[in-house]
Parts: sequence; structure tokens; C-alpha cells
Amino acid sequence: MTYDSIIIGMGIAGISAAVYAKRSGSNVLLLEKMRPGGIINTIDKIENYPGFKSITGPDLAFQLFDQVNALQVPYKMEEVINISLENDVKIVKTTCSEYRALNVLIATGRSPILLGLPNEEKLIGKGISTCALCDGYLYKGKEIAVVGGGNSALQEALYLSNIVNKIYLIHRRDQFRGDEELVSRVKEKENIEILYNSQVTELKENNDELKSIVINNEKELPVSAMFVYIGYAPKTEFAKELGITNPVGYIEVDENFETKVPGIYAAGDIIIKKVYQIVTAASEGATAAIRFSRKK
Ligand code: NAP
Repeated sequence: MTYDSIIIGMGIAGISAAVYAKRSGSNVLLLEKMRPGGIINTIDKIENYPGFKSITGPDLAFQLFDQVNALQVPYKMEEVINISLENDVKIVKTTCSEYRALNVLIATGRSPILLGLPNEEKLIGKGISTCALCDGYLYKGKEIAVVGGGNSALQEALYLSNIVNKIYLIHRRDQFRGDEELVSRVKEKENIEILYNSQVTELKENNDELKSIVINNEKELPVSAMFVYIGYAPKTEFAKELGITNPVGYIEVDENFETKVPGIYAAGDIIIKKVYQIVTAASEGATAAIRFSRKK
């Protein structure tokens, strides 16, 4: 069987595309490796998505999944490992099976990057985290660090400040990159101490748990946890052979979100663009699906 379209990723871009594709009568299949909603699941509060004054990430993810089910969009929880071409047909290989489609939309999102310190990966779940919503409660009443100067670091520091006793917000420059509104709210918080021009240079551990961090090779701060928000890397390794990714894994698309390979589309956080927001990802998924559904 050859599908009209296969959509890889059940984040906001993929689900938005699936809604449009299915409603246009397209024969569509959704593939997801882990959990519907993608990175939205890790956001504590979303206050800039139209229609919701405020909604938690997991609640929005649930609503998205509910919509997929209500529309009876077929989906499989399988990890895609390769995409190859056979004339006009795209062959999508997963860890379990192989599927064929005339169009493929890649909407696999990004995963958080770490600082690259020697024992950092080993300490994930033992003091190092990239998800305040998942792990914040473990450090109730404790002193912790948040690293980064963008919207993610600011927003998650605000969330954590209501749980922990004290936060060191560590940023490598003397100015934040994030929105002024978030910066002001962070500065008003009495239990957030901002350390500008600061880099974490060492992680010290005790019995395989993080016990302190060293700043700029000189100052040691005893902390129970360090939440890292220094950006994200696109999850596009499986698409490498198509030659559509740049050296750091992002995908170039045209105004219809089609890549240079006809019939292969990309949307959401994995494409080269200026604005990485939930609302833009939804729009990109919809635009791509409208385009490939009309080609039928
Ligand atoms: P980001 O905007 O790329 O910010 C990453 C931050 O980490 C920057 O401050 C950067 O420092 C710092 N950094 C990068 N590499 C580092 C390293 N090796 N060591 C120390 N610091 C490092 O990432 P983000 O905050 O995750 O946001 C990603 C996108 O999502 C943005 O477009 C953002 O606006 C959007 N977002 C929006 C919202 C919202 O609307 N409420 C919430 C979250 C995210 P420099 O500043 O020195 O480069």
C-alpha cells in the first residue's frame, strides 16, 4: 500500500499537518517515536498560543492527541530510521517496518543540548536535567542552578522559583537573549540570583549525584540540581542520506515547506527559519499539508 502522505512526528507541526491532510480526504499515516505532543510535554505553562489564555504543555499535548483520535488519523508508535526514494515513492523505514508514501512531512522537532562537560550525561537524572516540569519537584526546598539566557531558561527559572528555595541563573553574557517581559519577571523574583558573564566549568559529584558546580574555574556553588536550557539540536539524523540537512542538521524548505527533494516536506523546529514558536510550527504543518493534499 502506498499512502498519500506520511507525517513523521506528533508534535504541534505534525499533528496540525495530520488534521489538514485527514480532513482533505488524504490517506495519511502518522509516525511517532515517543509521545504525542513532543517537546510541548516539557513546558509548564503556555500563554502565547491563541485560544488558550494559559494551558500546561501536557494538557495541550493531550488535546492534540485527542484531536488525532477524534479524526481517526491512523498512527503508529515507531521510530523512523531512514527515508529512501524509489522514483516518486518515498520509503520510510522504522525500527519495526517499512511504509511507502507519495509525500513525506518531517516534523520531528529538536532535543535539548547539554554543556558538554565530561560527567554531564552520566549525571542526567542525578542532578542534571533539561525538563523543569518533569524533575523540578525532586528539588523542592533545595538550591539549584539554571543555565542559559534565552526564553527557555527564563521561563523555566520562573517555574522552578515556586518550587525550590534558591536558583542561581547562570548566563555566559551580560545581557539576556529572551523577551523583556520574562527578564523583568525573573529580576523581580527574590530567590533568583543572576550570575552574568558566567560559565559552568566543572560538575562535582558525590556518590554519583551532583553536589556542586564550579563557575569560571574559580567559584564553587553547592547545588542539588542544574537545569540546562542552552538551546536545541534538530532530530533529523534519519534524513541525512536525502541531502536536505545543513551541517548542523536543520532542513532548508521553500514557502510551501517543501525541501529540495520533491514530495519531501519539513515543518516545525527542524527547519531553517527565524521564529521558533508553537504557533508558527502549527502554521507550517498546515501549510505543507494543504500543499501536498492539493497535489493529489
Ligand atoms: P535560545 O534562544 O537559543 O537561547 C539559548 C541560550 O543559551 C542563549 O542565551 C545562549 O547564550 C545560551 N547558550 C548557548 N550555548 C551555550 C553554552 N555552550 N554555554 C552557555 N550558554 C549557552 O534557546 P531557547 O531559550 O531554548 O529558545 C529557543 C526558541 O524557542 C527561541 O526562539 C525562543 O524564543 C523560543 N521559546 C519561546 C518561549 C516563549 O515564547 N515563551 C519559551 C521558550 C522558548 P547567548 O545569548 O550568549 O548566545
